[in-house]
Amino acid sequence: MERILIKGGRLIDPASGIDAVKDILVEGSKIAKIGSGLNTDDVTLINAEGMLIFPGLIDMHVHLREPGFEYKETIESGTKSAAAGGFTTVACMPNTYPVIDSPAMVEYIYLKAEKEGHVKVKPVAAITKGQQGEELSPIGELVQYGAAAFSDDGHPVSSSNLMRRAMEYASMWDALIISHCEDPELSRDGVMNEGEMSTMLGMRGIPSVAEETMVAREIALSRYTGCRVHIAHISTKASVEMVRRAKAEGIRISAEAAPHHFSLTDAAVDGYSSMTKVNPPLRSGEDVEAVIRGLKDGTVDAIATDHAPHHRDDKEVEYSMAAFGISGLETAVPLAVTHLLRPGVLTPLQLAERMSLAPAKLLKLDAGYIAEGGPADITIIDPEAEITVDTEKFLSKGKNSPFDGMRLWGRVVHTIVEGRMV
Ligand SMILES: [Zn+2]
Repeated sequence: MERILIKGGRLIDPASGIDAVKDILVEGSKIAKIGSGLNTDDVTLINAEGMLIFPGLIDMHVHLREPGFEYKETIESGTKSAAAGGFTTVACMPNTYPVIDSPAMVEYIYLKAEKEGHVKVKPVAAITKGQQGEELSPIGELVQYGAAAFSDDGHPVSSSNLMRRAMEYASMWDALIISHCEDPELSRDGVMNEGEMSTMLGMRGIPSVAEETMVAREIALSRYTGCRVHIAHISTKASVEMVRRAKAEGIRISAEAAPHHFSLTDAAVDGYSSMTKVNPPLRSGEDVEAVIRGLKDGTVDAIATDHAPHHRDDKEVEYSMAAFGISGLETAVPLAVTHLLRPGVLTPLQLAERMSLAPAKLLKLDAGYIAEGGPADITIIDPEAEITVDTEKFLSKGKNSPFDGMRLWGRVVHTIVEGRMV
């Protein structure tokens, strides 16, 4: 049995509230012992002095592009990128070709990930067949086959009636509905945030209300059906405020924010780099501040990358023609360390909660904690390391990132999945 001894690191476990220097002994796929002054022969030793030891990070929103778009990313390359980024589990969205909307497709993702994946993969299944927004997927059956959650991400479910039915079915299994909140009638043809900047640049805007009207609808439907509903990539001030009020009311709503939505404003679009084109778009400074406040007080439960790798040809075109999306797995930790941890917005315990424990709970995974007997999914981070983002070194096939060349703090030193260093 392989053994790893992690010595002298600062253990951060939001499940128990532990924030203390501890040694951790990993045996096989489990954590065998946590204590002080642990010493054993015949181990792989990791000197973790000055490092943060987090429960393995979980990204509940990635696009692995396989099957159908292997020129953008594959399960193999996407999970390698996840491992480099410190993630031990990723939940992949179903906007593949074919769409993940059947038990066979869910099984396919599990089998392929077991064979070629570097980290654990949990498939999210589509709410509607083919993500066409017309007919429900077999939600109950998909739950039995291990669908981690349900989403038509990439597309909104425009029909309120269909979304209501989806929530009614999903709530029978206490399954999570992840909503891509966008009213296509309002966002139509927009390429960036609607505001002063879009006027100045002469580009068509996506107004914040395109998101907010749908957030309001999902809150109303969740209140009505009792279904657990999760707002994907929340990006506006009013959306965060609505979620905060809904939670206070006891509605079973949760939300995630992407690193680019807490670290960049629409000012980054000045210069017309298509790397800044993402959906929902980079918003105003006020919106960014609201997302950060939401992360701080827990209104926004989780940080999720919305990793959306694209081929060069999809991005090296005029702004209006370029694909939406940012390759996000390998910059999430440095962005969180730089914008949330170092300025003191979040404590290490809170950051570990947003990036590991909260997504584990939302997806009902046995993960997100560090305890004796628990799974040996561990992420070791050096918060003092300074890095320069170099997209050419990304392990993801998608080099599309607005952070290329940026100096940031925080580096993932080791990612351990079920006791294996990946
Ligand atoms: Zn989306």
